[in-house]
Amino acid sequence: MSPALEFRATRKRARIHDPRRDFALTEIESEVRYDPLTGDSARICHFAYPKRALPDLSALAEGTREGCPFCPDRVERVTPRYPAELLPQGRLRRGEALLVPNLFPYDDVSAIVSMSQAHFLAMDAMPVTLVADALKLARDFIVTAAPLVEAREVYGIVTWNYMPPSGASQVHPHLQVIVTDTPGNQLRRELEAEARFFAARKRPYPVALLEAERGGARWLEEAGGIAWWVPYCPTGMLGDAQALFVEQATISACDDATLEAFAGSLCRVLSAYARMGLWSFNLTLLPDAQGQRSGRHRLSARLLPRFYLHPQLHNSDTAYLQLLLGEKFAMLYPEQHAAELRALLAAPAAR
Ligand SMILES: [Zn+2]
Repeated sequence: MSPALEFRATRKRARIHDPRRDFALTEIESEVRYDPLTGDSARICHFAYPKRALPDLSALAEGTREGCPFCPDRVERVTPRYPAELLPQGRLRRGEALLVPNLFPYDDVSAIVSMSQAHFLAMDAMPVTLVADALKLARDFIVTAAPLVEAREVYGIVTWNYMPPSGASQVHPHLQVIVTDTPGNQLRRELEAEARFFAARKRPYPVALLEAERGGARWLEEAGGIAWWVPYCPTGMLGDAQALFVEQATISACDDATLEAFAGSLCRVLSAYARMGLWSFNLTLLPDAQGQRSGRHRLSARLLPRFYLHPQLHNSDTAYLQLLLGEKFAMLYPEQHAAELRALLAAPAAR
């Protein structure tokens, strides 16, 4: 039997004379956790963050409608088309979803999926069919484009930045799809670590992690071959969640039913976050290379709610720790975050 995964943490204790307690000598605890796969550290501290209600986003939605490149009356005129050798039709459609080249590409194959005809989709009522269609369209495009990328290893990566706190420059819901030999440092390092784990333990790390998390303090749910939990090492200041595709290593290996199951669970988790007052997120699906047969990896999705720390200042939830020191930082414990998400997932949405 292979040894259990190591969920390691160290406590930090800061001693101050606290003006909030009449300058009594006070010890304030924080925690550093180490990712069981990569060993990367992440910090958790107690930081007061008042609960907020979901703001009225109608002015933001209305104010950005004019000039939106993805609205149906404009999208055909202002978005590019692919050359015939990549995509004979130039663009791809599925339901309301439309895939077009990114006008501002950052790789050889860099596409956008406009997910809906509606300019704005609320996070607490995301239509599952539209999300599933957009994912299926992204998958179909990756299947078409991957063989055309000349590289030993090709990755089809799908991401979703929703609303401005996440970095999204358009309110209109859209996915990014890149088909690339350069999957990014985080995914590259995780896959290398998973290959080492597989060689040493003779089993895939994501499966070992799933077994360790299933039914535990960070567990959320599992259905249709998709499992959700809150990661041991937080990424977001207000927590985050991750999904695992239990059988598949790439999005191109997912059949329609699997993508529908993922879309359904994603929309439920998004609704739970919206009921926490959050209204923006980053989502990334992390695949193995196309055609990789080692069995080391499973497709996973990381869902990271994003927010402005202060409602008037609009200061970012990302600063020097994350960007310059590469250190993740959270204001709440993953186990506490999971308990809150579980309660919201169990309660019916108000609308
Ligand atoms: Zn629009």
